[in-house]
Amino acid sequence: MSFVKGLKCKECGEEYPKEPLHVCETCFGPLEAAYNYDEIKKVLTREAIEKRDRNIWRYRELLPVDADPAVGRSVGYTPLIKTDNLARALGVKEIYVKNDGVCYPTLSFKDRVVSVALSKAREFGFETAACASTGNLANAVAALSIEGGLESFIFIPYNLEQAKIIGTTVYGANLVGVKGAYDDVNRLCSEVAGKYGWGFVNINLRPYYSEGSKSLAFEMMEQLGWRAPGHVVVPMASGSLLTKVWKAVKEFELLGLVPENGTKIYGAQATGCSPITTALKNEWEIFKPVKPDTIAKSLAIGTPADGFYAMSVMKESGGWGEDASDAEIIAGIKLLAETEGIFTETAGGVTMAVTKKLVEQGVLPKNETIVMCITGNGLKTQEAIADSVSRPHLIGAHLEEFEELYSKIKNQEEKGGTQDALSSHTNPA
Ligand SMILES: *Cc1c(COP(=O)(O)O)cnc(C)c1O
Ligand SMILES: [Zn+2]
Repeated sequence: MSFVKGLKCKECGEEYPKEPLHVCETCFGPLEAAYNYDEIKKVLTREAIEKRDRNIWRYRELLPVDADPAVGRSVGYTPLIKTDNLARALGVKEIYVKNDGVCYPTLSFKDRVVSVALSKAREFGFETAACASTGNLANAVAALSIEGGLESFIFIPYNLEQAKIIGTTVYGANLVGVKGAYDDVNRLCSEVAGKYGWGFVNINLRPYYSEGSKSLAFEMMEQLGWRAPGHVVVPMASGSLLTKVWKAVKEFELLGLVPENGTKIYGAQATGCSPITTALKNEWEIFKPVKPDTIAKSLAIGTPADGFYAMSVMKESGGWGEDASDAEIIAGIKLLAETEGIFTETAGGVTMAVTKKLVEQGVLPKNETIVMCITGNGLKTQEAIADSVSRPHLIGAHLEEFEELYSKIKNQEEKGGTQDALSSHTNPA
């Protein structure tokens, strides 16, 4: 039985059937999946969920599929980590990391959204999956198309990180680098989507795709012992993930799976591409499109499709938004690595840096539960920090050379110096 009533326009409320549609014909508003919550409430209990496999489909009544899902058997249920060292460093009582940097199979939260989109693509009978991507989506579509038995066409801005390119082509996907920024890629893809009969996960399948993000927040609440946190910090590219974290919290509250907790949602962007936080801070009603200039390429969308809704969620929930410079992003990546042993990508550096700023500004309270959504893995954006981390010490294979190095390291430690200071003159590289 299906718990999805159909699609509904977020602006005018007009209803549409479950088809590969994404814009309202009347008002051009975006379409969203609508559910029959009365029916879901009868079957979706904590006990029912706890008995199921640990993947995104344990919440399947709240995801927009009708058939047995074809993709995503091993996707989701990433760790929620109580990060006490980080809490001490920030001077807060309780902070958690929801670590989608280790999501299976491509180490970002995009594995969730793509699993839902491709399962739906299979229901619709598509044979080719496609997307416009800032990098992580490319990896997820390429890898999960294998499980879905689909061919894939993937469009990216040509200048992405190595790991995101190789992490796409290795699966045999057709990868197209477009000379331009993400907005140019997206515009081209809208034309391609209209012309070829492909399932574009973030264009004609977007209403289904975007719902997959909710699974991150469902897990977060289950892993907190069935409660909603006071505060959640979410990175924003198009702004979709942020709106879906909010929707997930509201759905769990509505279904009685967690008590209401007045959860506040905070958005994080890179200063070099911050159309949403800039509009929020300036109280603008509309966005100024920006030309991205940041190391956080996975968040570099100059005209964010869900930016307006993301801004509404931040305001309505009582949260806020901030942005971080490239230097702050690098410091954020290092802070999370050095305090907690978690190596995140630039988007995670944005989330970490913005969380720190919001604590320092007194916007995030020090004595209530905070969750940071870490959405990607640092191994995929090594270029961004290669020049900001210490290099290995270089020695010959002789015990004396190691002993000399060791005493230098110990000396340096006593003086309170850093590894960087030492390695810069022991390493000729
Ligand atoms: C895509 C992405 C996001 C946010 O995406 P939205 O478009 O705002 O939903 C966040 N983090 C990473 C690492 C991403 O790849
Ligand atoms: Zn409409």
